[in-house]
Amino acid sequence: MQSDLGQETNPRVAELRRALRRYIERYGQLGGMVDVEKANSAMAFRQRRLDRLVEEEARIRSEIASMASEIKRIEKWVEFCFEDAIERAKRENSEGWSPRPVLGFRLWWIDGGVLNGVKAPWLKRKMTAICLTSGGDVEIPHSDGRCGRLGCGVYAAKTITPLYRDFDVRTVKNLALGLVELTGKVVEHDTGYRAAEATVVALAAALQGHMLLTADPAHIDGVFEDPDLIKAAVVVADEEQRLGEMETYINDKARRQGEWT
Ligand SMILES: [Zn+2]
Repeated sequence: MQSDLGQETNPRVAELRRALRRYIERYGQLGGMVDVEKANSAMAFRQRRLDRLVEEEARIRSEIASMASEIKRIEKWVEFCFEDAIERAKRENSEGWSPRPVLGFRLWWIDGGVLNGVKAPWLKRKMTAICLTSGGDVEIPHSDGRCGRLGCGVYAAKTITPLYRDFDVRTVKNLALGLVELTGKVVEHDTGYRAAEATVVALAAALQGHMLLTADPAHIDGVFEDPDLIKAAVVVADEEQRLGEMETYINDKARRQGEWT
């Protein structure tokens, strides 16, 4: 009875094997050996297969380790290529993740106790864009046309003049003009920008003849929360003068913030 089994792992099997060997030595060939050989070889076959699998496992483990270390080595290269491709795309599509915020101008009309933008009321000085058309909040504002010609994002104009004209400010009367810092993804258009986020850094607001000018963040938030605060400011009865002073104040703040191109 030869056995391919190296180390016997089951003590009961080992004990029986030794006993069987003694009986063969004592009595020669025994009856029932056909089944013993069958069982033995069934076990041996599986043991050899198991040994091969263990070897294979060791080889796979070492291959995994070497792949992982190769990946570590080329990560820097991949990073560089990705950054380069993204930079190219931004340059070619006039899009920027500006390290310093881009400045823009906005108008709100004051009605119903809130400052209303074209799409939604602003309740704080900071607004984060969402995309109503395509949903989700990834890659906003979209610049691949998926949400229409105008596209999502917080809009801001490059100058005040077109805002005054398009909002027809002389009929609106109760309104606010603001300087906004645009952050996150900013897409540039001919006359303005679309941004992921905008924060009002200077505000000129008119309500029932009163005019409030402020660049204090807490004060600005206060006005967005409760526009009635404007009524604590001076009265500038003449409408042309009021609109002019608001424009001058905001333009002046923009110049001081200044370093935009
Ligand atoms: Zn969109």
